[in-house]
Amino acid sequence: MTAEGCVLAADVFSVCLTHALSTEREEIMGLLIGELDKRSVVHISALVILQRSDKTPDRCEISPEQLTDAAMYADSLQQKLKRPMRVLGWYHSHPHITVWPSHVDVRTQADYQMMDPCFVGVIFSVFNIDKQTQESQVQVTCFQSVTNLQGAHEYMRREVPFFVQKRSTFEPHNLQSLSSMPQVLLTEETLAYKSTIPTEKDEKNLVTQLYNASVYSASVCHVMDTMIGPLMSSLTNRLTENKESTKKLIEEKKRLQEQIDAINKANTDGS
Ligand SMILES: [Zn+2]
Repeated sequence: MTAEGCVLAADVFSVCLTHALSTEREEIMGLLIGELDKRSVVHISALVILQRSDKTPDRCEISPEQLTDAAMYADSLQQKLKRPMRVLGWYHSHPHITVWPSHVDVRTQADYQMMDPCFVGVIFSVFNIDKQTQESQVQVTCFQSVTNLQGAHEYMRREVPFFVQKRSTFEPHNLQSLSSMPQVLLTEETLAYKSTIPTEKDEKNLVTQLYNASVYSASVCHVMDTMIGPLMSSLTNRLTENKESTKKLIEEKKRLQEQIDAINKANTDGS
């Protein structure tokens, strides 16, 4: 059995893309949660943003703990939403490079398919300059791995048809994932900085320590500048819009209630 298609809810797509655009220096990654229909089409409606422990390019390792936590989160969503939810895919970004999966990606994907044959991989290529227009473009692909004819352990990419499903609102759990993103990024930076602080035995020179501290400060400012600021203004705009539409709905409710009262009165007077 293989995945015949992948439908990503628009709110999940928006969170994944925001995550992918959060840094152009390293790859980011996360897990995708959803359900499978009878035609083996994967419908993704939630996600888990993963904290990276290794920022080396092309290292997309997801720890067993992270997979277990994501499975537990899928379970809790299943109970809340009364729908079958499970971890059905992973996503990662390719900053400044093409969208196509690397050999490492294809091999990693094959490992995940051993756990679940319909597991899919989604890649977001970001900050990649189009040679003709010289503009930064975003490309997305969805893939699975199939065995290469040359050998049982050689794999190649199989493209999975990919769609984004329109949604007018954010599901509360996806809004929660979006708002947790700055914290995940800040924790990554803090852990990376803490690992450079020397112990008493292993004393590094003062200039190196000062340099590491300034790199940490610059990274924190970068997260604030590119993520927290825009996210705050976007959420504030959403709040203003929601308040506005709540006000309109209350007025509409009042108007409809008046009409009902008038009809009821006319019926009572008539009888
Ligand atoms: Zn990759």
